[in-house]
Amino acid sequence: MTKVVKFGGTSLAEAKQFLKVADIIRSDPDRRYVVPSAPGKRFSGDTKVTDMFYACYDSASRGGDFEEIFQKIKNRYNDIISGLGLDMSLEDDFEHIRLNFIGRAGRDYAASRGEYLNGKIVAKLLGFAFIDAADVIFFDESGKYDAKRTIPILRERLSYTEYAVIPGFYGSMPNDTIRTFSRGGSDITGSIVAAAADADLYENWTDVSGFLIADPRVVDNPQVMKTVTYRELRELSYMGATVIHEDAIFPVMQKKIPIRIKNTNSPEDAGTLLADTDEPAENTVTGVAGRKGFSSINIEKYRIHDECGAVRKMLEVLEEHGVNFEHIPSGIDNFSIVVETTSLGDETDDIVYDIKKVTSASSVTVENGIALIAVVGRSMKSTRGVAGTIFSSLAKENINIKMIDQGSSEINIVIAVAERDYERTINTIYSAFVK
Ligand code: ASP
Repeated sequence: MTKVVKFGGTSLAEAKQFLKVADIIRSDPDRRYVVPSAPGKRFSGDTKVTDMFYACYDSASRGGDFEEIFQKIKNRYNDIISGLGLDMSLEDDFEHIRLNFIGRAGRDYAASRGEYLNGKIVAKLLGFAFIDAADVIFFDESGKYDAKRTIPILRERLSYTEYAVIPGFYGSMPNDTIRTFSRGGSDITGSIVAAAADADLYENWTDVSGFLIADPRVVDNPQVMKTVTYRELRELSYMGATVIHEDAIFPVMQKKIPIRIKNTNSPEDAGTLLADTDEPAENTVTGVAGRKGFSSINIEKYRIHDECGAVRKMLEVLEEHGVNFEHIPSGIDNFSIVVETTSLGDETDDIVYDIKKVTSASSVTVENGIALIAVVGRSMKSTRGVAGTIFSSLAKENINIKMIDQGSSEINIVIAVAERDYERTINTIYSAFVK
């Protein structure tokens, strides 16, 4: 068996966390390929090393003095090395990085050093080979991840390396400069390594015991999902639930490699298994997620529903203004278009005017302050009464539903409520389905 294990920033923020990580890896010889993040926050209010590197480089590229902050970065690593009692020094690397900063090696290069240096420490601690991600992860000319080039080269390298550390977050461009993924991108590296290694499992170690059924800022102590499918997760992350980088799903999903989310601070917890499973879900509802900040453009016109092309005309107006829509609930004499409020910018009046013009609607109004909530579950399809339970439980709480939309996949029901009802709605749905 081969497992790829990715450890996030809080799992590698200081020496005592490294020791937990080493225990976890040593306890299972199948954990062969390790993808570390840069040191994250040690306590709330602390600064991630990646952010320190960005700040340091910004100062250097303005020609300013960056020694002080650079020294702080060095201290973070030296504290880890001495805390672990390792016989190693990163001084040569620090000097090399300092010179490259003066030579303007780029912001991505700067940010990537967080993972690079951490990877060297993890490799030394475990006695694993260190593979620089710049040699095995590639981006194309346009800056997009290049799977065609990466996978064969990485696969070949892993084929003769039994145990290795591959730093997360970065790779190289065709001109050999360093490029990073977007923030949180070590998750993507882990997924790519898992795909190249044909791993049996990709373990993503973080500081929570899996995906929570609802946002813990809204619901008190929500339960952890035992299993979630890729599609369910996509629906939930679209609505704002985050634990893993969205782009980390694709490489492993294609190869049907499951991801298990685990907690470095509580390794016995089962965590959440993310896989294309046929296993029935433990709850009808796998997760509830939502976001505030939506607006509804309401268009009224007698029998507009019978007019061929009415929706197209309205959507063309939105397209011209660069506005993406979320949902279009409709009636016989009206349509509503739900959009993100910020996407309207300061063009609301123009959009209203243009829609009126193209549809000859009797009234076009905009209602702000709407929240969307997605109730997601793969078992909903085969369970009767899910919508009924949602509506009756919300009715009992006196919560008014403004819109309902069930996707054709039948794995999610989206409802719109007033923003002031957002928290209550999520709590009500959570209690109605999670026992
Ligand atoms: N260290 C990078 C960040 O802070 C990447 C990662 O942690 O995944 O975004």
